[in-house]
Amino acid sequence: MTGLPYPPRQLYYDGKVQPATSGETFVTVDPANATPLAEIHAASHADVDAAIASAERAFPSWSQTPPIQRARILQKAAQLLRERNDDIAKFETLDTGKAFSETSTVDVVTGADVLEYFANLVGGGGLNGETTQLREDAWVYTKKAPLGVCAGIGAWNYPIQIALWKSAPCLAAGNTMVYKPSEFTPLHGQTLAEIYTEAGLPAGVFNVVNGAGDVGAYLNAHPSIAKVSFTGQVSTGKKVAGTAAGGMKYVTMELGGKSPLLILPDADLEIAVDGAMMANFFSTGQVCTNGTRVFIPKGMKAAFEKRLVEKMQYIRPGPVFDLKTNFGPLVSSVHYDKVTSYIRHGIEVDKARLLYGGLEKPSGLPEDLKKGFWVQPTIFTDCTDNMTIVKEEIFGPVMSILTYDTIEEAVKRANATELGLAAGVFTKDLNLAHRIIDQLEAGITWVNSWGESPAEMSVGGWKQSGVGVENGRRGIEAWVRNKSTLVDMSGAVATVFSKL
Ligand code: NDP
Repeated sequence: MTGLPYPPRQLYYDGKVQPATSGETFVTVDPANATPLAEIHAASHADVDAAIASAERAFPSWSQTPPIQRARILQKAAQLLRERNDDIAKFETLDTGKAFSETSTVDVVTGADVLEYFANLVGGGGLNGETTQLREDAWVYTKKAPLGVCAGIGAWNYPIQIALWKSAPCLAAGNTMVYKPSEFTPLHGQTLAEIYTEAGLPAGVFNVVNGAGDVGAYLNAHPSIAKVSFTGQVSTGKKVAGTAAGGMKYVTMELGGKSPLLILPDADLEIAVDGAMMANFFSTGQVCTNGTRVFIPKGMKAAFEKRLVEKMQYIRPGPVFDLKTNFGPLVSSVHYDKVTSYIRHGIEVDKARLLYGGLEKPSGLPEDLKKGFWVQPTIFTDCTDNMTIVKEEIFGPVMSILTYDTIEEAVKRANATELGLAAGVFTKDLNLAHRIIDQLEAGITWVNSWGESPAEMSVGGWKQSGVGVENGRRGIEAWVRNKSTLVDMSGAVATVFSKL
């Protein structure tokens, strides 16, 4: 396809941009107006093999590079990311539809923070093992060894952030990576690879292959891959983890959620309303940790809903590069169909009461945006636990309000799901908050807050929402394996085979 506004993106391995040998391309689309942005080369199996071979060649030297030298390169990459924040954010906005007010302040920044965090961690001795004295002349020491060539497979909602949350600890720990972005948001991959190269990363340490799920599946199954770090839907994650298990590969699985947000009777109403809005409408609801099941005491419901509806006017869909805009379209036509079918189901089948929003596109959109994948932020109330919109991850801006009588009942209902990604409580009673948090079955929890996920905080789901964590000190452990060595200096091997 010719005449697209941005140049084609190819693949990246051996430290440079490489054409795909498949001869196949696909097009990435601007979700705000449904127009094509750029042509993307799809990797063939031979291309994935070549990228993996490049990562294999780079591994021996990179894994032996002293951590402090690895750290210097990654710190330089973090600096370059920050210097080019707005340019990178522009492409994230074009590719995902997220408002520039968001991508320019969150997406690149939080990715660069994680890169800096892991660079500093390994540069500061964070990969050291332990020594245990057994006897005067014998001890055990452990080493944290890198795994080898790792695969990163990303979702479309936080493209460059996901790429950085995976590659930062992976590379810091001495591994090399082949990364596959989502086919819906591939623009960042080449940019990140080029920044790494400019920062001094040796050729082959970070590689990018583009394509759809079949490229991810081939990468995942490849015998040379030691670990797969995956972000995506539970159903895909099960396939990916199953294949990885067949090859005895390490995995990190960051999957979906249907997270409960508990407003306790003493909560500050304003803070609770702000929290519920943040937990449902930030990034047009396309956040894995969203608190889409909002539990409110029966007695607070009317006041909560009144204030919530009043505050919905502060959500401003519109031209995505207008800094006043804080709500963009959904990422793709496929996802638009999925989210609107859930809204329709909520109205027609679940028969929840539509408090705000619905199936119409937001009013007042300029003419050139009317073809985009826009939905209104939507609130259902009088919901019950068995409704489909309450049970299934919608991954769009759709809040369900549920009422409760006792806190004990609310906690029980909050936990009555196979998912366990995030949860949170709003209350002024901190003792109570800690007690409730302790009972909630989720890996990521907040008190009087929602969504903030700094580099220092390890995040990962419980139950079907995932395996392992990303970020924080524990995040690096997912990219190393342990080697224990027992040293005996006594000169006598402990043995049962002695002369009687
Ligand atoms: P998908 O599971 O559809 O896709 C994720 C990635 O996997 C894409 O790159 C996709 O390729 C690829 N893929 C698809 N099939 C396979 C396969 N068989 N083997 C290997 N890779 C494959 O997820 P979405 O992109 O729709 O992302 C949204 C989901 O991600 C939501 O459920 C959300 O909750 C979750 N998520 C979880 C996060 C967390 O930290 N827990 C954070 C962000 C999102 P392609 O799409 O190109 O075909």
